[in-house]
Amino acid sequence: GWMHTARFLTTAAQLHQLPTVEVPEIAFVGRSNAGKSSCINTLTQQKQLAFASKKPGRTQHINLFSLGRQNLTDAVLADLPGYGYAAVSRSDKMRWQQVMVNYLVHRESLTGIVLLCDPRLGITGLDEALLEVVRPRVEDGLKFLVLLTKADKLTRAEQTKALSIARLQTGGGEVRMFSALKKQGVDEAALLLWQWAHP
Ligand code: GDP
Repeated sequence: GWMHTARFLTTAAQLHQLPTVEVPEIAFVGRSNAGKSSCINTLTQQKQLAFASKKPGRTQHINLFSLGRQNLTDAVLADLPGYGYAAVSRSDKMRWQQVMVNYLVHRESLTGIVLLCDPRLGITGLDEALLEVVRPRVEDGLKFLVLLTKADKLTRAEQTKALSIARLQTGGGEVRMFSALKKQGVDEAALLLWQWAHP
């Protein structure tokens, strides 16, 4: 139940507005509609936690949640805004891209990234651009997990195929199936994140 201890810490529109964090920070990223909020809510068993990030005015924010018993925060979960949403203006997209790249490149406490992808879209150009941005840090030890969401929409055979394609695209990184609806892959993902935070 480590992930169930998640509680809202803070929200910020810019990297420099985020508090300095002395514990491992794990960021959740992905295209808008990839299933990121559902995934965070399922992992933390808190129905509304990540949907707080979808409130008007907060969609372009980085939202931080503390993990750990009582006041002993031993990790931080960062929910980054979904990208690729068509209805966002070009200038907003550019501004957000800058915040995101800034965070991914410079956030010191960042030790792991969870990339959420809808397997019916696969790893898109935007996801690949993000992977490219973090590649130097991954080579430097940053942990990386791709969760293919909405597994319940795929047959077993389709899941196997989606996994192998994603593994090829990410160069042999950690890739797992996940379903918030059917609670598939939840314990496995939670265990992996716990291990990241407790090396
Ligand atoms: P976000 O924009 O990445 O935060 O995505 P959401 O969590 O809001 O999910 C986007 C849509 O996908 C919503 O309609 C969800 O109900 C749906 N969805 C998310 N996770 C699952 C899942 O595991 N199974 C199915 N069938 N639908 C899901």
